[in-house]
Amino acid sequence: MSFWNRFIRMLGGRTRFNISPRCALCARPAAVVEIFETSKSCFLRYSGPGGSNGTGDPISPQRARAVREALTPPYEAAKFKAVGFWDDAGFCAECGKFYCPTHWSVSSSGAGRCVQGHFKSLDPHWHPE
Ligand SMILES: [Zn+2]
Ligand SMILES: [Zn+2]
Repeated sequence: MSFWNRFIRMLGGRTRFNISPRCALCARPAAVVEIFETSKSCFLRYSGPGGSNGTGDPISPQRARAVREALTPPYEAAKFKAVGFWDDAGFCAECGKFYCPTHWSVSSSGAGRCVQGHFKSLDPHWHPE
């Protein structure tokens, strides 16, 4: 049983939403986005081209809703920023597509370029709020 399944069971919850967007080119996750909801609280696990929050952070139900909304079309960079995804979960606003870290050609300085050459600053540090 995975860490998360044990954790969720411990909290008495059972709802897990995997809303990871997929790369337009290779279908790998552009970012891993999972929300766990229990009767008492919500958790977010995030890993995008610009960073991750490790094993997850507790978030408010309002923010959980906003995250799920941000990953529902139409996608907008502003919606990703609003929920704290500084790397837009791998979304290229110019292309209107998601790309995985490989197809963002992420550099060590934390910048990326999509396959069409659009530039994105991928903040290497996770900002929880
Ligand atoms: Zn692009
Ligand atoms: Zn890809």
